[in-house]
Amino acid sequence: MGIENYEAPAVVGHFIGGQVISGRRERHSPVYNPTLGQVVRSVALAERADIDEAVAVATAAQKKWGRTPALTRARVMFRFKELLVQNAKLIARVLSEEHGKTLADAEGEVTRGMEVVEFACGAPQLLKGEFSESVGTGVDSFAMRQPLGVVAGITPFNFPAMVPMWMFPVALVCGNAFILKPSERDPSVSLLLAELLKQAGLPDGVFNVIQGDKLAVDAILEHPGIAAVSFVGSTPIAKYIQQQGVLHGKRVQALGGAKNHAIVMPDADLDGATEAIIGAAYGSAGERCMAISVVVAVGDATADALVERLTRRIGTLKVGASDDAAAEMGPLVTSLARDRVTGYIDAGQVDGATLVTDGRGITVPGAERGFFVGPTLFDHVQPEMSIYREEIFGPVLSIVRVEDYASAVALVNSHEFANGTAVFTRSGAVAHAFVRDIEVGMVGVNVPIPVPMAFHSFGGWRSSLFGDHHMHGPEGVRFYTRLKTVTQRWPEPEAMRADFVMPTMK
Ligand code: NAD
Repeated sequence: MGIENYEAPAVVGHFIGGQVISGRRERHSPVYNPTLGQVVRSVALAERADIDEAVAVATAAQKKWGRTPALTRARVMFRFKELLVQNAKLIARVLSEEHGKTLADAEGEVTRGMEVVEFACGAPQLLKGEFSESVGTGVDSFAMRQPLGVVAGITPFNFPAMVPMWMFPVALVCGNAFILKPSERDPSVSLLLAELLKQAGLPDGVFNVIQGDKLAVDAILEHPGIAAVSFVGSTPIAKYIQQQGVLHGKRVQALGGAKNHAIVMPDADLDGATEAIIGAAYGSAGERCMAISVVVAVGDATADALVERLTRRIGTLKVGASDDAAAEMGPLVTSLARDRVTGYIDAGQVDGATLVTDGRGITVPGAERGFFVGPTLFDHVQPEMSIYREEIFGPVLSIVRVEDYASAVALVNSHEFANGTAVFTRSGAVAHAFVRDIEVGMVGVNVPIPVPMAFHSFGGWRSSLFGDHHMHGPEGVRFYTRLKTVTQRWPEPEAMRADFVMPTMK
């Protein structure tokens, strides 16, 4: 079983009630192949009526799905996982074509998404409640977690398979119906996931996809039939989603942008750190929320040695088409993204940072119109420069030099963003202090991209996350369920009497 003879549609439509709907109205947006720099298809942009329809269908389907035993819901996920394994290469190919990341990187993304599906297969265990016997004479108490109803996920372009899978597998096994609003820049994968869920036996209407832009997002935020919104994207939009969602009475988790620092101590294995940093800075052309974009080098000798090694390694880094098996990084997602990144490189130069390697103006043979920027390295970056303060979301790495460990930690802790960070050191004492003192949500020790596994939870601090819950893992289960606590007595008839004081244990 699987998706045989897949052909990408000319217009990527919605998926409502188990059917693909190719967009009934006029609004569409172009979808590019960033390697070629060409429009390859378009995506329908929803109107409010499409969201109304999806919510109505989801509300009706959720009533039955929410009462389906957790074990039965989990079994759908087991089948979905098998289908994902069978179709992983197809999913990777489709997303790599529209995103621009290399095929190997896209396959890694699908794997990380599948791990959340594996986590969700444990639903019966995850949803087990709590029970206290004899909280009073003849009185027992238990607590259970119930679904919220219809929930929505709004996702970014940079992980069109993995980020939706941070959300919907957990939401679905908890008994919710789900409406996904993917990025309009790489929308095709969402329909593949919908089709595979259908093949896995998920009842129609429990999982729906609405393609669209701000109009669709606002309709989701304002719809009274949607109980909760999960968002991943840039910080200004994350803030907006949280404020609007809360205003309309929804539970919200909104993950935002990042500026991830790697502190390199003088005692670090510099060859190992260089390899780790090169991959973390330039993999996926820097379009990862956990990319390393700042190296904080402790001491000038550390900085000089690192710059020398990084420059040498950048010289061998292969930039190429997303389907070139030898490529280590591909193009940026759109020409707008490319121009934004080159604008930051211009600004870094004007501000006086030392441009060690310049990725502007790179051309890839056979893909001359592609949206490429090569690996770029700045040294002597100062904290007030825009290339340090702002998220660039491209293959641009900044080196900031500090004198000691304390200054490095203070720098990281004072940045607006606090998604991920890492320290490279051979000292257990430094690593121990770093883990304790650093004020960032996800922390690596000699690990450059410390993305938590599916059975832990993903999320940053400060402007990298708005809301109270991180994503997937135990936090995901808490986000997608609400607690109900029951106190029960089955009395002998004569034991019942009116009680006018606050009940206490008797
Ligand atoms: P984005 O904020 O532009 O878009 C995210 C989603 O919001 C998309 O579905 C988009 O259609 C929608 N959207 C865009 N503009 C909107 C508006 N004005 N009003 C309402 N909705 C709007 O983000 P992006 O460019 O797709 O993705 C890159 C960003 O996502 C980066 O900032 C990156 O750091 C962040 N990101 C964060 C994490 C994390 O876990 N913290 C993970 C992945 C990506």
